[in-house]
Amino acid sequence: MTGKTIAVLGGGIGGFLAARRLRKELPSRDRVLLIERDREHAFQPSLPFVLSGRRDPAAIERPVAGIAKLGVDVVQADVTAIDISSQTVLAGGEKHDYDYLVIALGAQLDPEAMPGFEESAINVFTPDGAAIARDELRTLKGGRVAVVVSRLPYKCPAAPYEFAFIADALLRKTDARSRTSVDVYTPEPLPMPTTGPAIGHAVASMLAARKIGFHPNTQLQRIDPANRRLKFEDGSDAEYDLILGIPPHRAPDAVSSCDLAGPTGFVPVDKATLETTADGVYAIGDVASIGLADGKFLPKAGVFAHSQADVVASRIADELAGRSPSRVFDGSGSCFLELGNGKAGYAKGNFYGESGPEVRMRREGYHWHIGKVAFEEYWLRFRW
Ligand SMILES: Cc1cc2nc3c(=O)[nH]c(=O)nc-3n(C[C@H](O)[C@H](O)[C@H](O)COP(=O)(O)OP(=O)(O)OC[C@H]3O[C@@H](n4cnc5c(N)ncnc54)[C@H](O)[C@@H]3O)c2cc1C
Repeated sequence: MTGKTIAVLGGGIGGFLAARRLRKELPSRDRVLLIERDREHAFQPSLPFVLSGRRDPAAIERPVAGIAKLGVDVVQADVTAIDISSQTVLAGGEKHDYDYLVIALGAQLDPEAMPGFEESAINVFTPDGAAIARDELRTLKGGRVAVVVSRLPYKCPAAPYEFAFIADALLRKTDARSRTSVDVYTPEPLPMPTTGPAIGHAVASMLAARKIGFHPNTQLQRIDPANRRLKFEDGSDAEYDLILGIPPHRAPDAVSSCDLAGPTGFVPVDKATLETTADGVYAIGDVASIGLADGKFLPKAGVFAHSQADVVASRIADELAGRSPSRVFDGSGSCFLELGNGKAGYAKGNFYGESGPEVRMRREGYHWHIGKVAFEEYWLRFRW
C-alpha cells in the first residue's frame, strides 16, 4: 500500500498543531508536509505581554523547522497558488502534490489598506509594534492615546481591549495617566460582539471603571498624520497623539484567488467537520469562515484553531485507516482578557448556541492573570 501526502499550509497555531497531530496518528508511509513562509512564528497571544513588558519580541518566537525532528517535512516557502483540480500547491516556484490538504494560512495583516496607517499608527499586532508601543507609553508625559480598530473582521476579539487596559495600567505606573486620555475607537457596536451582548456590556463596564473612553460604531476612513486626526466614515473626527493600531485584515492572496474562497476571500467550511467544498480539503483557524446562529461569524482565535486542528487531523487519520471519521468541532472555546496590573478576566462558552454564542464572563481577578501566564508559559515551553 502506498502512502498518502497530507499537505498543511501555514505553520502558525492551527497548521503547526495539525501537522504535529497528523504525524503522531499516521503510519510512517504517509507523508506530512508543512509549508510555511516565515522561519520563525510569533505566538500572538503573547503580544499583550510584550506591551506590558513581561516579554520581549524574541522571547515569543519559535523556529517553525523545529517540527522536522518529529518527522514532518518542512518547506520554507511562500504559498502563491492552490489548484484544487490538479491537487497541487505552488510554493516558492515549486509544485507540491497532495492527497489531503489542510489550509491554515491565517489572516493577513494589511496596514496599507488604511490610508495614513503606516505613517501614523503603531501596528500593535506585530511583536516589534507591541514593543515600540510599550516604550512610547513608558515615556509619555501626557496626551491622547487612541486604540483604533481599522476594520472588521480582525483576529482575537479581546485584543484591542487588552491593549487599552494595559496602556491604562502602564500610564498609571508613571503617573502620566492624569494627563493622558485613553480611548478605544471601533466599528463594533459593543466590545467583542461576536461573543454575545452579555460579554460586551461586561467589558464596556470594565472600560468605564478605568475611565477609558469607548467609541462604538466608529468606522475609520483614514488617518490624517499632518493634523493628527482620525477621520471616520460618518464625517466625525478625533485628535490623537499616539495610536495603538489594529490594521485591516484580509485573506491571504493564495486563498482569496482559489476556487474555495467565499465572498470575503476567506474559506467557508462545514461548521462541524471543517471540510471545504472540495473533497479531502479542510480549512482551519483564522482562514476559515463559519457562520453562527445570530448571523455573525465565529471569531478568529487561537483556541479555535487549536481544537479545529485536532478535529481535522483525527478525521484524516480515521479516513486513511478505513474508519468512519467521528470527531467534530463543537464551537466551544475560552479566552483570557488581560487587564494590566496583574489582573485578568476570563470568558468561556459555546459559540454554536441555538440562537447565538452562549458565553459567560467570570469576575475579574488576579487568579485569571496567573492562569494566562501559566497558559502562555506552557505554550512557549512545551507545545511549540
Ligand atoms: C494581539 C493578539 C492577541 C491574541 N490573543 C489570543 C488569545 O489570548 N487567545 C486566542 O485564542 N487567540 C488569540 N489571538 C489570535 C490567535 O493568535 C490567532 O487566531 C491564531 O494564531 C490563528 O491561528 P492560525 O493557524 O489560523 O493562523 P496563524 O497563527 O496566524 O498562522 C498562519 C501562518 O501562515 C503563514 N502564512 C501566511 N501566508 C502564507 C503564505 N502565503 N505562504 C506560506 N505561509 C503563509 C504565516 O506566516 C503564519 O505562520 C491573538 C491574536 C493577536 C494578534
